[in-house]
Amino acid sequence: MNASSESNGLAADASTADVPTANAPTVNAWIGRLAPSPTGRLHIGNAYAALAAWLSARSRGGRLVLRIEDIDRPRCKAGADTAIMEDLRWLGLEWDGDPIWQSARTALYDEALQKLQSEGVIYPCFCSRGQLRAASAPHDDDGFFIYPGTCRRLNSEERQRRLDAGDRHSWRIAMPDTDVTVHDRIFGDHTFNLARDCGDVVLRRSDGIVAYQLAVTVDDMAQRVTDIVRGRDLLRSAAIQLWIRHCLGRPDRPGRPVAESSHSNAPTPSNPSFAHLPLLDDESGKRLAKRNQAIDLATLRASGVSPQTVVGYCAWLMGIVDLPEPQNPSDLLAAYSEARIATNPQDRAIDVHALYE
Ligand SMILES: [Zn+2]
Repeated sequence: MNASSESNGLAADASTADVPTANAPTVNAWIGRLAPSPTGRLHIGNAYAALAAWLSARSRGGRLVLRIEDIDRPRCKAGADTAIMEDLRWLGLEWDGDPIWQSARTALYDEALQKLQSEGVIYPCFCSRGQLRAASAPHDDDGFFIYPGTCRRLNSEERQRRLDAGDRHSWRIAMPDTDVTVHDRIFGDHTFNLARDCGDVVLRRSDGIVAYQLAVTVDDMAQRVTDIVRGRDLLRSAAIQLWIRHCLGRPDRPGRPVAESSHSNAPTPSNPSFAHLPLLDDESGKRLAKRNQAIDLATLRASGVSPQTVVGYCAWLMGIVDLPEPQNPSDLLAAYSEARIATNPQDRAIDVHALYE
């Protein structure tokens, strides 16, 4: 592997010689995370992302933590967390320590919201669903909506009057006209203007549920995650989460420049490193959907497909091996190369039938 061939000059793939090993953890040890949502069984897309996160951390001698992202309780399915953990073990993607469940951490998220409120960076939004739909347009192909800032312009009397009246509201973060650059190890540098490209995202929904962006940021900080590996549809979220991190970090470091992820080979919990992956499409070019049972690990397992077949296929999709041959995750540690993934950043099309052969 030759890190200098990467256009962004990141050294992440350079060598494992000078990074800490699992046996000798240091403050700079890489800590990756698996963060499944228990809304159903894992599918091939989840296995592909989990394998990449596992390989990224393990190939650097790092640790891997497991977080069950069940904050959106109404969308979660009973027992899915257990099934997911069983599927991860079946694949050979073990993690370190005890998993955490977001649903058990609401006090932590409330504390973060209070801090942001005392900093004056969040505000209540009283817009109805219909108003939001009418006022927003989806941005690019990640389906992201930019909030036009309607309630940010309310004066403080009006805001207080509506809060006192108990009007239904969410809480949004007021994004500044500031650029944040995400140094992605696969997609290179992406600069987002927070106000224009992200807008004032919701941190607490009007139903009281803490939003993804806040829960993930708080947990990544609390779990001291340094290595974030996930689908490229979350590149924009990386900028948002870096900014939330920056706001939560104040006022410890008031002079700190705009949050950026690390260029160095040793990211820190306050300066994580990102690798966003090409997404998976089905044969017709549509994004993989959970309702497609053929890509479900439950269906694959019931059909007698081996974990090695799934792992080898995912590694081939990633682009780190030439053929979709059966593999154990540990057999792929040497092959894992973000530079190689980056040589083809296009989304991958999967052929489900190949798995059943
Ligand atoms: Zn509003």
